[in-house]
Amino acid sequence: MNDHILVIEDEEDILELITYNLSREGCRVNGAATGEAGLAHVSANKPDLIILDLMLPGMDGFEVCRRLKNDPATRAIPILIVTARGEEADVVTGLELGADDYLTKPFSPRVLVARIRAVLRRGSRDEAADGTVLKRGDLTIDSGRHQVLVADREVTLTSTEFRLLLFLASRPGWVFTRDQIVNGIHEMNFAVTARSIDVQIVGLRKKLGGENTYIETVRGVGYRFRE
Ligand code: CA
Repeated sequence: MNDHILVIEDEEDILELITYNLSREGCRVNGAATGEAGLAHVSANKPDLIILDLMLPGMDGFEVCRRLKNDPATRAIPILIVTARGEEADVVTGLELGADDYLTKPFSPRVLVARIRAVLRRGSRDEAADGTVLKRGDLTIDSGRHQVLVADREVTLTSTEFRLLLFLASRPGWVFTRDQIVNGIHEMNFAVTARSIDVQIVGLRKKLGGENTYIETVRGVGYRFRE
């Protein structure tokens, strides 16, 4: 990796740990101890990815995330939020503000590097949802024909199940909250409620042949298609 990474984190040892490990991977790393300093850095020198602590003095990480994702100039920069263990509600809020993934403290350097690689990779392989054939392992989703195959077996899905699967499978490894799934499917001109998502997932899994084979439950947060 030779990417430019900005770390917005007020805890010095964590900033050091991240900087050390990412520099060793070849990244160019800059640190900012406050949200304000982080935003100033972004407008002067746009990074490839931002690691953002949610608990910051002054402007908190949520506000930093909101500003970056509301600004067309910075919206596309992937954000990995960092949160204390057990703050699942914070993760949900962060993802809904547009963060791309999250890490829970304490994290190992190996997990950190793997997550960053995954997030950087996603940026370059966002696939169009319409008229394409997605292949994920032995699963084939043909969005033009509205057809799903597991190995060579055709699976009959309802329209809601189909859209749900297509939405999740378009971005393997991404965690989506129920509200994000509702919004994502809504963009495909299809209405579904957050409350019904769990029921749809149960039906979808049954038809695809197994709990957690393709769609994982991320406890307290939502769902993701296995990477
Ligand atoms: Ca902090």
